[in-house]
Amino acid sequence: MRAWLWWVGLFVVVTVVLRASRDGLDVAHAVLTYLLVMLGGSVSGGRPLGFTLTGAGVLSLDFFFQTPYDTLTVAKPLDGFVLLAFMTTAAVTTELLAAERARAAEAELLAAERTRLIAAAEHAEALREADRLKDVVLASVSHDLRTPLTTIKALAQAGARQGDQNAIAIEEQADRLARLVADLLDLSRLQGGALPVHPEPNTAEDLVGAALRQVAGLLGDRTVETKIDFTEPALVGRFDFVQTLRILTNLVGNAIQYSPSQSPIELSVERDGDNLMFAVADRGPGIAPADRERIFEPFYRPASAVAGSGAGLGLAIARRLAELQRGTIEYAERPGGGSIFVLRLPADGAPEPL
Ligand code: ADP
Repeated sequence: MRAWLWWVGLFVVVTVVLRASRDGLDVAHAVLTYLLVMLGGSVSGGRPLGFTLTGAGVLSLDFFFQTPYDTLTVAKPLDGFVLLAFMTTAAVTTELLAAERARAAEAELLAAERTRLIAAAEHAEALREADRLKDVVLASVSHDLRTPLTTIKALAQAGARQGDQNAIAIEEQADRLARLVADLLDLSRLQGGALPVHPEPNTAEDLVGAALRQVAGLLGDRTVETKIDFTEPALVGRFDFVQTLRILTNLVGNAIQYSPSQSPIELSVERDGDNLMFAVADRGPGIAPADRERIFEPFYRPASAVAGSGAGLGLAIARRLAELQRGTIEYAERPGGGSIFVLRLPADGAPEPL
């Protein structure tokens, strides 16, 4: 707005001055003066002001400075040419200036965006490198721990056979450590893509049966109620049997560990759209809302977790294994108290991803 006031004002002043000294002037003087005013207006006010000043300049040149004076007629062809030349020069300059301004603004935006992208890329690269290093360390440490552990276990076993109480305790702890090391190794393999899964058609019944046999020793006098939806001929999914068995026994094992020893555990399977849905439900304390996603992170154990049990790797491994087979694991609050862990895996015949 201020640019408009300024340059239109200047135009009027210039016109008055030129008009007053019209008799001693050539048209060229007026043309050049108006061009300068128009240029200034274009630079500070952009295209609209530039074109307005150009139009006003054409009219004023014709009216005041070309004979016959004080009419809007063009008497000689040369006068028409002067007006046309003025108009073309002014219009082209305004256009060029406007385009240049837009280009400069765009270049500024692009430069800012580029700086931001470079910073983001560097950050991502650093994170990837840190992650890779962590995986390398994890893999080599867990690998190197296995051999000494095997030796310790063998020696402890020999002592245990002779009734040595310390040796029995050592063997137990060596077993625990061996499980931890095996989990660590698997997690690092899973993250490095070195633990392949082979999904193939398997029935839910076989899987549930195998899982129940595996956890039988942990159950004590507790029961696992199975609910399998028999409205379909057979619940067949596409999954790696061994790795999925591992997921399911882990979920049932957790349910046993984290719920009161008298409460039953419910294991159900049904078809859910293109998926088979396995649900493991217990009557334990459930999981606080803030921990419901974090329990799937490696090494995360809520403050309330039973001291001295696992290392917090089970659910992280289970989720990775499910995802490798295009499945999911989720936690849900159980109505009436307790947890439900829901595992979804593609049903056989479900559409394959492209
Ligand atoms: P871990 O059992 O070795 O600690 P997991 O990854 O299997 O590791 O589980 C992570 C945490 O999630 C456990 O420490 C426990 O606090 C919580 N959790 C898992 N399953 C249940 C459950 N059924 N009920 C309550 N808490 C559970």
